[in-house]
Parts: sequence; C-alpha cells; structure tokens
Amino acid sequence: MDYASILREIEKEINLNQTRGQVASYIPELARINPQKYGLHLACMNGDDFHLGDHTEKFSIQSISKVLSLSLAMSKLGVRLWQRVDVEPSGNPFNSLIQLEQEDGIPRNPLINSGAIVIADILVSILDNPKKDFLEFVRLLAGNDDIHFNEDVARSEQDHGYRNYALANMLKSYDNLHNDVEDVLDFYFHQCSIEMSCAELAHTFLLFANEGVICQSKKRMLTRLQTKRVNSLMQTCGFYDEAGEFSFLVGLPGKSGVGGGIVAVHPGEYSVAVWSPRLNKKGNSVLGMKTLELLTTKTGKSIF
Ligand code: GLN
Repeated sequence: MDYASILREIEKEINLNQTRGQVASYIPELARINPQKYGLHLACMNGDDFHLGDHTEKFSIQSISKVLSLSLAMSKLGVRLWQRVDVEPSGNPFNSLIQLEQEDGIPRNPLINSGAIVIADILVSILDNPKKDFLEFVRLLAGNDDIHFNEDVARSEQDHGYRNYALANMLKSYDNLHNDVEDVLDFYFHQCSIEMSCAELAHTFLLFANEGVICQSKKRMLTRLQTKRVNSLMQTCGFYDEAGEFSFLVGLPGKSGVGGGIVAVHPGEYSVAVWSPRLNKKGNSVLGMKTLELLTTKTGKSIF
C-alpha cells in the first residue's frame, strides 16, 4: 500500500480554510487553540510511519484517554468490571444525564463521561497512586516518558465541570461510585488533560492493532479477548451519538476527544491519529472524520 502518496492526495483534498466547526470553548485552554492546526500520523505494524502537518505537536487528548483508562481497568479487574458499566451504544451526547437516571445509575458504556467516571472510580480504588500509575501506564504503552498532565487544563475542567459533578453525584446516589466525588473527578479531569501528539497517540494505539501486545517491547498488556472488546467498544461507542456515522463513513474502531483528536485502529495493519480542533455539534473533529473517511476510501481497506 502506497500510504505516502495517499496521504499527499488527502492533503490536497482537505481544505483547512473552508472547514466548518468550532473549537471547544467550555474551558479557556481549549478555546485558545489555533483552529487551523492539522496533523496526521499513521503508524504501521511493520514499523513504517507516515505523517502530515502538525503531527508532533502535543494537544489535549480529552476523551481519547477513556480508552486507556478502560484498558488499565480491564487488565486489573477482568470481567467484574461489567457489573458496573454496560456495553451498549448510548445514542446520546457524551455528557448526557438523562439516560443514566433512566437506567438506574449503570452507564451505557465506558466511553461516555458517566462510564469513564465509573472506570475512574475503579482505578482510584485499585491503584496505589492513581494519577501517577495511570500516567506511567500511558507512558509504557507509548514507549515514551515525555507524556504529562496539563495542570491548567485539569483545574479548568474542575472549575467548569458542573455536568461531570452532576454525573458523579448521580452515580453516587445509585451506589455506583465508591470513592469521594472529588477524588474520582480529580483523577478523571487529569486523565482528560493528558497531552500527546498524533505521533505519540498513533504509536500508543498500535497496542489495539497488535492483539494487546506493545509492538516495540513485545510486552502483553491485554489478552486477545480484552483487545477485541476494547476495539468493539470503540467501534460502537467511540463517537457518542455519532458512532454510527463514523462507522458508516470510516469503517474502523476509533475514539474522539473534544481537543480535536481522533485515533482509529485497523487491526493487524495500522493505527492512525488525526488532529484538527474544529468540532461538529456532536463534539467530533470535522476534518478528522473527513480525513479518515478519505484514508479508508482511498486505500479501499477497512475492517469491513
Ligand atoms: N473533559 C471533557 C469532559 O469531561 C471530555 C469530553 C470529550 O472529549 N468528549 O466533558
């Protein structure tokens, strides 16, 4: 596959200046990001790398972190996890409260905020130093120690986190949050504040293309079954109420974040990360989705 020339074609076809959408504005740190930023990094299983634009610039990974916290919780807790969070697509916005109440405090899936807050609660319970241990897990997957929380972003998330506080309190009222709301949300806001580049994200997510084994170190982090399940959840739940649209257009498991990043995985082939901060109304990167649609269309390869 000639990925280099396919990426050159994509670069010509996407139009940064005519891209609609708004940069996330709920916290000042994200509202300030230059909307014209655009990066792509494709990391192949055979070790080849291809890229475009701002692929080494770090940005806020936000909800992409939910896949990583889920992976750590699955590796530690096994199937007991599924007593506290379901595995169905939500068809609702990422921060919706209504469904959580209708379903008695069991979040639809671990990739919406309520589900990720339950996963954060589990990690706060089982890790010795939750924030430090999680960051080390991400660094291990990435094969890179230069990955950090952004404390300003974490503080802003806390200052503006009314909905996440509402979700955490509702979970608590259903006895599906075992630690203090403040402790769990402190962890959750920090995991969302991690900054990574497209290159770092693509290499981190190669784990899910490689049946749960880190490509570089050959260390197994997830079983094949767990990896299948993480990929299935990304496929059905990775884009909230736009999961069907992403699957329809792109045909790969993936996860988005309101920082404008999207990571997608082609099991056995590659992992790809795109960053463009302009978001559509559902909170997904407009150009990120377009880019990945072009990639799987031009290569003629997806999981389907
Ligand atoms: N930190 C954001 C929140 O909790 C993450 C949302 C997202 O990326 N979709 O609201």
